[in-house]
Amino acid sequence: MDCRNRKQFLARLLLALAVAGGVLVLGSTEAMAKAKYVFLFIGDGMGLPQSNAAEMYKASLAGFDKPGIVKLNFNEFPAQGMTTTYSIDSLITDSAAAGTAMASGVKTTNAGVGVDGRNKPVKTIAEMARDAGYKVGIVSSVSLDHATPAAFYAHQPTRKNMYEISMELSKSGFDYFAGGGLVDPEGKKSKMQGEKVNAIEAARKAGYAVVNDVAGFKALKPGQKAMFINPRLQDSQAMAYAMDNAHGDVTLADLTAKGIELLDNKKGFFMMVEGGKIDWACHANDALASIKDTLAFEDAVAKAIAFYKKHPKDTLIIVTGDHETGGLTLGFAGTKYESHFSRLNGQKVSYVAFDEKFEALKKTNPRFEQAMAMVEQDFGLKATGDAKDPMVLKDYEMASLKDAFARTLAGDYEKSKNDQEYLLYGGYNPFSVTVTHILNQKAGLAWTSYSHTGVPVLTTAIGAGSEKFNGFYDNTDLFLKMTENMGLKSKIIYLSQAN
Ligand SMILES: [Zn+2]
Repeated sequence: MDCRNRKQFLARLLLALAVAGGVLVLGSTEAMAKAKYVFLFIGDGMGLPQSNAAEMYKASLAGFDKPGIVKLNFNEFPAQGMTTTYSIDSLITDSAAAGTAMASGVKTTNAGVGVDGRNKPVKTIAEMARDAGYKVGIVSSVSLDHATPAAFYAHQPTRKNMYEISMELSKSGFDYFAGGGLVDPEGKKSKMQGEKVNAIEAARKAGYAVVNDVAGFKALKPGQKAMFINPRLQDSQAMAYAMDNAHGDVTLADLTAKGIELLDNKKGFFMMVEGGKIDWACHANDALASIKDTLAFEDAVAKAIAFYKKHPKDTLIIVTGDHETGGLTLGFAGTKYESHFSRLNGQKVSYVAFDEKFEALKKTNPRFEQAMAMVEQDFGLKATGDAKDPMVLKDYEMASLKDAFARTLAGDYEKSKNDQEYLLYGGYNPFSVTVTHILNQKAGLAWTSYSHTGVPVLTTAIGAGSEKFNGFYDNTDLFLKMTENMGLKSKIIYLSQAN
């Protein structure tokens, strides 16, 4: 080796040592940042307008006399990112494709659950966590076989295969399922041939303690796999809207706290918690029901924050939305530069609870005045009074309400193919959707859709490796960032290759 070669050799050796050293240093910091306890909170339909509306509403409750917001606890997290949500076949995703993107890192077609765009099953982060020895919990305020929770344990070409999905639930081996019920436990809507096992029975046989009473829920103890179905269900096997809950009803925060109690162990856990009815309220254009469910979602996040404070080095909390719903915006042509969130407080019940009351009234062949009395009681909107009182209906508002009343009495509006009628009522009870539109507009809020929209959502994070969640990225990146932080394989894994 001559002098020049020796110099080159030394230089190369130093470079190699530096690289190896760098890798070692990187490796050790990554090990330090490993997230052992991971919470993924998904506000279904919770875009920026939904969370910001809740913050403006909180400010109005706090009696702010100047414009301002009271931040939601998760919007104060140090890491903040914007997340794109489009699916393979649409700029506007559905919950199944969005859930699959977050759970498995692949873009898929709308309605696809735990499969890629060609219906090939992909492993979910929850399944990867289970196989790595983490305990796993899945919590939702809607039915447990609904698209978002299903995307973490099931693999079906379509979210409509609810029986097949609920049968996969019991095979998942996850430790904790809690929330609403199952939509098709007997497989009545399933095209599967042969005798069908009841999905709840299947869960029992798989070793789950299936509980659906409050005392049983409170008595659940670590060491047993548990499936809790809230005894208080409202629509489509979902838990009631937070604003319709009675004292003593089990809340999303209760489900989260119990999850922590059951899943906490030395090897760690992964828990997905969905606020599912933020979305449902927005589909129906009911702002206050959406805001109150967002606040219930915030209460659930508070339980995770309390846990994080005890284990700050090992805990990672991520809060995101799967898409925006309803095209909610914080402004309305009729109120120009004004907002009046306190006017929402005229509303006492969700549109669903109001629909139920209206259905009972409908059977008595009511006059408009009787329905209007219900509106005054449940929404604070008045037919007559001081013209300066903003809650007194203007002539054009009264006219639209009378049209909607007549349309509701005529019935069969759910399946109406009339375009104009769809724009007005979206297939919902025409009377109640008109009432929420009027009330929301008086508060300075407006809607552009009864479906989802394509605007990006806000993702926030705190804890181990949370800095990765800063910036602008896609919903599939959430899977990559989470798996990386948990020390799992950070790549798409097809289930056929998984074993
Ligand atoms: Zn959704």
